[in-house]
Amino acid sequence: MQVAGRMAANQGQNLYLVGGVVRDLLVGQANFDLDLVVEGDAIKLAQQLIQINQGKLITHPRFNTAKLQWNKWSVDLASARSEIYVKPGALPSVKPSAINNDLLRRDFTINTMAIELNPSRYGDLIDLYGGRDDLERKLIRILHKGSFTDDATRIWRSLRYEQRLNFQLEPTTLELLKRDISMLDTISGDRIRHELELILKEELPEKVLWRAEELEVLPKLHPALKGNGWLEEKFEEARQLSTPDLPPIGLYLALLAYPLTDEENEQLISCLRLPKSLARTLRDTNGIKANLQSLAHPKLSPSSIYQLLREYSLLAVTANLIACDSPVAHQHIQLYLNSLRYIKPTLTGSDLKRLGVASGPQIKEILNLLHEARLDGKVTTKRGEEELVKGWLG
Ligand code: ATP
Ligand code: MG
Repeated sequence: MQVAGRMAANQGQNLYLVGGVVRDLLVGQANFDLDLVVEGDAIKLAQQLIQINQGKLITHPRFNTAKLQWNKWSVDLASARSEIYVKPGALPSVKPSAINNDLLRRDFTINTMAIELNPSRYGDLIDLYGGRDDLERKLIRILHKGSFTDDATRIWRSLRYEQRLNFQLEPTTLELLKRDISMLDTISGDRIRHELELILKEELPEKVLWRAEELEVLPKLHPALKGNGWLEEKFEEARQLSTPDLPPIGLYLALLAYPLTDEENEQLISCLRLPKSLARTLRDTNGIKANLQSLAHPKLSPSSIYQLLREYSLLAVTANLIACDSPVAHQHIQLYLNSLRYIKPTLTGSDLKRLGVASGPQIKEILNLLHEARLDGKVTTKRGEEELVKGWLG
């Protein structure tokens, strides 16, 4: 940091550490995503910084921003800018500016502090909006009355920080949030999806969803979604299944969308503009859900379990394992995940030809029969499979 500050000063620029990292420094939490703001040319500074140490540099000349990466450290450099919101929900128009204006455009007081990095003022805190007080009082506070109208994604962001940090929405901010909930309709599906993804990367996303339900923000995503105790329990199971990693977003999303009908699912997919893979997870989850009654049949053969699940993505199968409430179905899905999905016949198409099976659709049919026999434990060795085939041919 000191080196960067000196370099900036030599270039005649001012450099600041800003945003989340300053907040986290003050509450004593680790944060490896550094945000730096340059009064001047961020790319010019980034190009000089990358020479100190082998790392990766990506520049975006159109926005005058750059990203540096060293191992786990990621450093975003931006040129100080001010923003004007011409229309609610739309992206603002921006122009280069001084640090004060750059701080003014931000979401909450606790995210609006900066630390000076130039040598003469190194380490000085800039706190224009009482961010430090709000950190101490554990409050999430917007900077001005029009904040949620300008950019309603801040509604979701406020809940995310509130729950992550165990803070509270400051009373006026809470009032304005309630007043401006309808402004969420002005935000594009892509931006809402991005905020939802950030929530699902939190340690306990269900807390944010529960709070969003309480404040009637969640129904804006889809009226049929629920942020209740069921979800809390299922998210916890998802984490236990996924340790040591966090559950993939698709698994959380499938659990969140579990109560939705096919039609509601499609509405969610299109309003969030979900990418293909996530859309598939949600559709598959509902596909399996529709089979749950069959899966709950106590006398189901392994090959039938396999047939009921084989065409669906693993995340969707896992979501149903967690969400279904029939113990028998649960057991069957477990069996599929732990064992059935790995079972394959040993003989191949060419083995079958060698045994005298004619080329063509017959090969496929016999391979399927062998697969079924394997799954149901009717055959366990290559030898056994050959006997079976010979029997069928004879
Ligand atoms: P996190 O720990 O979640 O990464 P962060 O504060 O680093 O927190 P980012 O999403 O990385 O959050 O954003 C960096 C900074 O940009 C924030 O601290 C905030 O000041 C500002 N910011 C991000 N999104 C918005 C927004 N929608 N409106 C205003 N300011 C925003
Ligand atoms: Mg960040």
